Amino acid sequence: MKPLNSLNFSGGPGALPESVLLQVQQAILEVPEVGLSVLGISHRSDWFAAVVQETEDNIRALLGLDASYHVLLLQGGATQQFSMVPMTLLRGQQAPAQYLQTGYWSGKVLPEARLQGDIEVLWSGQSCGFSRLPADDELAFSADAPYLHYVSNETVEGLQFNRVLGREDVPRVCDMSSDFLSRPCEAERFALIYAHAQKNIGPAGVTVVLVKDALLQDAPTDLPAFLDYKQQIKAHSNLNTPPVFSIYVTLLVTRWLLHEVGGLANMDQINRQKAALLYQALDDSEGFYRGRAAVPDRSLMNVAMTLPSVALEQAFLAESALAGFSGLAGHRAVGGIRASIYNALSLTAVQRLTEFMQDFRRQHLS
Ligand code: PMP
Repeated sequence: MKPLNSLNFSGGPGALPESVLLQVQQAILEVPEVGLSVLGISHRSDWFAAVVQETEDNIRALLGLDASYHVLLLQGGATQQFSMVPMTLLRGQQAPAQYLQTGYWSGKVLPEARLQGDIEVLWSGQSCGFSRLPADDELAFSADAPYLHYVSNETVEGLQFNRVLGREDVPRVCDMSSDFLSRPCEAERFALIYAHAQKNIGPAGVTVVLVKDALLQDAPTDLPAFLDYKQQIKAHSNLNTPPVFSIYVTLLVTRWLLHEVGGLANMDQINRQKAALLYQALDDSEGFYRGRAAVPDRSLMNVAMTLPSVALEQAFLAESALAGFSGLAGHRAVGGIRASIYNALSLTAVQRLTEFMQDFRRQHLS
């Protein structure tokens, strides 16, 4: 039988834990404690208020966040945050905000930020084809910048920072869309973190924002309500009809992380095992599978690689699909192959993929 779901290496929306999917299956018919389908429960119900509260509490517990942070569950994807951040923090500022351009997604942020004010691109990996991340001695962090913005994990190129960047006295803003809740992240060192749910913690439709209360002190007061963090905070993420279903599934994933996985340190350990296995397969392939990322900057989430020719890449995609694997095509911006190994993808699935890769290489070398 064709394996169901378990070999989903999609870059996003990504795989969800099986135990969560089983609960979702039930909830689509009927949430037991309510007696209604999750698709038809009012966002003004007590049940949904409790769902939002528990999701928020679970995220706080997983990250050890204190009361100085607000946890928001917003719409508009990570892309909406590309604008909401500078609308809130850049308008009317004298000094430019500093942005890092380390790949496709941090590049997408730049034009949106420029619509709101001056920014400085502190470093760009464009000239090296986004094959590596900068070292600290390549980065001149300014003390005057209203904030520093970077992407912790570049989903397309498979580059991930293993350290927190920037100065302690300049607010850090980080897009953690593709590695949020995949490992501990020293959240308290950031002023604002945003991450859409659709990689590691839920379906598309909801974006988690963690924001330090003090960051919003001087925020403009003339923003549209929907785009105003303060109004979203006041409304407890229920300013207009929120994506009830997506938030409910995200709650189930946070419960899974807390109670089945046992927290982010455990999740990190599992994710490291998966990544080590896959990168080993690249390194043992004598150049057949070539990683895009410089070795020290390899992502634990997205393993991006190329094969010796486009024809071989196409054969790899066709044969892997027949073998039951899904989502292995590289992002349309760069092509090649990408295996995304988010939280819910099992070690067994990665083992299966490495076996397939070894077989494929053997067959196509001869
Ligand atoms: N940032 C990163 C790091 C991403 O990987 C993505 C999408 N894959 C985005 C932003 C854009 O997210 P959305 O489609 O939710 O706007």
